[in-house]
Amino acid sequence: VGSKDKLTYLRLMQPLYVKPECMKCHGHQGYKIGDIRGGVGISLPMYDILRHAYRQFKIHTTAFLILWALGGTVLFLGSKKLQKNTKELALSNIDLQREVEERKKADIALQKESSFTASVLNTAGALIMVIDNTGHIIRFNQTCEQVTGYSASEVSGQKFWKFLLSPEESLQMQNSFANINHGGLAMKRIGRLITKDNKRRIIDWANTTFRAQDGSIEYVISIGIDITEEKQLQEQLLHAEKLAAIGKLSASIAHEINNPLFGIRNVLERLKEKADLDHDNMEFAELAVQECDRIKNLIKDLQDFNRPTSGMFVPIDLHQSIDNMLLLLRKEFENKKITLSLNYAKSLPRINAISDQIKQVILNILNNAIEAIEEFGIITITTRQTDETVVIEISDTGSGIDDESMQHIFEPFFTTKTSVKGTGLGLSVTYGIVKNHGGSIAVSSLEKGTLFSISLPISGEKKHG
Ligand code: ADP
Ligand code: MG
Repeated sequence: VGSKDKLTYLRLMQPLYVKPECMKCHGHQGYKIGDIRGGVGISLPMYDILRHAYRQFKIHTTAFLILWALGGTVLFLGSKKLQKNTKELALSNIDLQREVEERKKADIALQKESSFTASVLNTAGALIMVIDNTGHIIRFNQTCEQVTGYSASEVSGQKFWKFLLSPEESLQMQNSFANINHGGLAMKRIGRLITKDNKRRIIDWANTTFRAQDGSIEYVISIGIDITEEKQLQEQLLHAEKLAAIGKLSASIAHEINNPLFGIRNVLERLKEKADLDHDNMEFAELAVQECDRIKNLIKDLQDFNRPTSGMFVPIDLHQSIDNMLLLLRKEFENKKITLSLNYAKSLPRINAISDQIKQVILNILNNAIEAIEEFGIITITTRQTDETVVIEISDTGSGIDDESMQHIFEPFFTTKTSVKGTGLGLSVTYGIVKNHGGSIAVSSLEKGTLFSISLPISGEKKHG
């Protein structure tokens, strides 16, 4: 506000109109209402007001400027900070993304690895089982499922000895696991495994342990190979070798006995003819000759039986085969005072069969029958003919077979006898031979004892279809 502003005035000029109240005094002067009869003017010196307004303006402007500057700074700083934060966020976002990607990659790798492990576990021909230190099944691979008949979901979390082992082996295993941290568990073991349908398999197990940091065993990894067939073959081979050895031995003994026997028989015949024997002595000599003949037959049978199997199907007389075997077993019948009851068919056609194998079948079943009788029993042999087959039934009044054993008697190595007496091979070999002849074998329990019934086709041929 300059000095010249001191002369600044605000002026108001207004016309003065004639109003009705003016007429009282001025009406006579010829005034009319609404005429303009002069003017009113007001002059207001503005200097002080302008100065005040200017000062006010300055104060406000300064205050606003300061406020603006302050606000601007804060905003500026804020935006800087925001920018920085955004940048940092973007950076950490990239890091995060990278991490996620890496994790994804690791996940895929892990997945690959685990599916690789799973397929190795599953395609391995071996049984692979992971068990925790208290015997619970953690893993059960496909081979385990195939061999045992149990599915992995069925068994996981269960104690494996509850259903995979026989009662004795189960007890043994529970002991092993109770002492697992004191060397209780064998690292290698051949054991029997019971399948869901109650069959036995022989498994060669190798165990590895997985230890916790404190050294205690956390898991056991058991890898097993099913060696049932191999073992069977091995035992059969052994059995066959044993038989062959016995065969050779008896053949050579037979040969050694045959010659002097022939000599003795000749001397006896000569005595009978030439010596002057009284009646009694004559009978003794005759008896001696007969006994010589019996030994001769026995030796012949022994030689026959131990000859390696011919594998040739020839017509054979079953009654004669049975008689031959009975001759071999005469001593056993006598020792146990067993009565033999023969129920032969009047006439039986010859059947086409491998002679020594059929004899072995008869011998196996008769041996079992004798072994089942403690003393004073009866063994009955019945033969008959049906349309195309002949049937041989051999029954005994022995111990009989309980229901549980009945399901297993044809399995190799199933025996209820001590290891010296039984190999558990007799009936499985018998079964194999009968099947090979196109026949069938059945067993049933009698009120007292057991009946084995064998049916063989006369033609010796397997029926097809
Ligand atoms: P092994 O005679 O060596 O035991 P087998 O295969 O001949 O083997 O017989 C298997 C099992 O079947 C025997 O251990 C026995 O328990 C049973 N068995 C077979 N025949 C008879 C029978 N006639 N009476 C009772 N049990 C029998
Ligand atoms: Mg036997």
